[in-house]
Amino acid sequence: TAALRFAGVSKRFKDGTVALAGADLSVAPAEFVSVVGPSGCGKSTLLRIASGLDDATGGTVDVHSKSLGYVFQDATLLPWRNVAHNVGLLAELEHLGKRERQARVAEAIELVGLAGFERHLPHELSGGMRMRVSIARSLVLAPDVFLFDEPFGALDEITRERLNDELLRMFIQRRFAALFITHSVQEAVFLSGRVLVMSGRPGRIKAEVAVPFAYPRA
Ligand code: ADP
Ligand code: ADP
Repeated sequence: TAALRFAGVSKRFKDGTVALAGADLSVAPAEFVSVVGPSGCGKSTLLRIASGLDDATGGTVDVHSKSLGYVFQDATLLPWRNVAHNVGLLAELEHLGKRERQARVAEAIELVGLAGFERHLPHELSGGMRMRVSIARSLVLAPDVFLFDEPFGALDEITRERLNDELLRMFIQRRFAALFITHSVQEAVFLSGRVLVMSGRPGRIKAEVAVPFAYPRA
């Protein structure tokens, strides 16, 4: 069964704006799917509905996950908490025991390449490092479905390329299902085996493009 499935999903906001009109999509377990499209075509709405932050007004949404990771463009770190304490935040909310939490926090920090920065505060980090903290915070809960809303959109190009490399490495290690929103076709093609193209208004998925040999699959 799919990790994530939309069938005929629509969203009409209270002011009458139609952001989604009959969107169909499906993401298999351990599959990385990107969604590209111009600003305003409904990408964020799609992701917010997948995450449960917002409700569809029509159609059906199925999410099969024990744990869902969600990363926004804005890293939304707590400024008074150091890196380790920001990364541990969701684990604390889930009431994981202290030892288990510390082990997972250390592993996630290592995985995003921030070992040695545990005690730094967010304002002491670059934008790319803050995004790594945000990703690590979600990794701690070992999500089997990961939702990314234009996570690298605010970063400079070199940092962005580096994070794309690292995200791909994480994906190959951890094998989560991912739905990755971006307006960069290049980024989508680099990261995904399949790219969904949205366009027009109201938002529909217009096309689906398979990317051959996107990354090692075994
Ligand atoms: P994208 O992420 O592709 O830029 P969005 O999903 O943010 O697009 O928005 C899709 C459309 O829905 C846009 O026309 C946007 O202005 C509109 N929209 C988004 N959120 C709301 C809201 N809360 N109320 C009314 N319209 C909204
Ligand atoms: P404190 O560090 O104030 O004693 P905790 O030990 O409860 O508080 O840690 C709070 C969060 O930060 C937990 O998620 C913990 O796992 C994590 N944490 C704190 N310091 C480190 C560190 N040096 N390495 C890994 N995780 C850490």
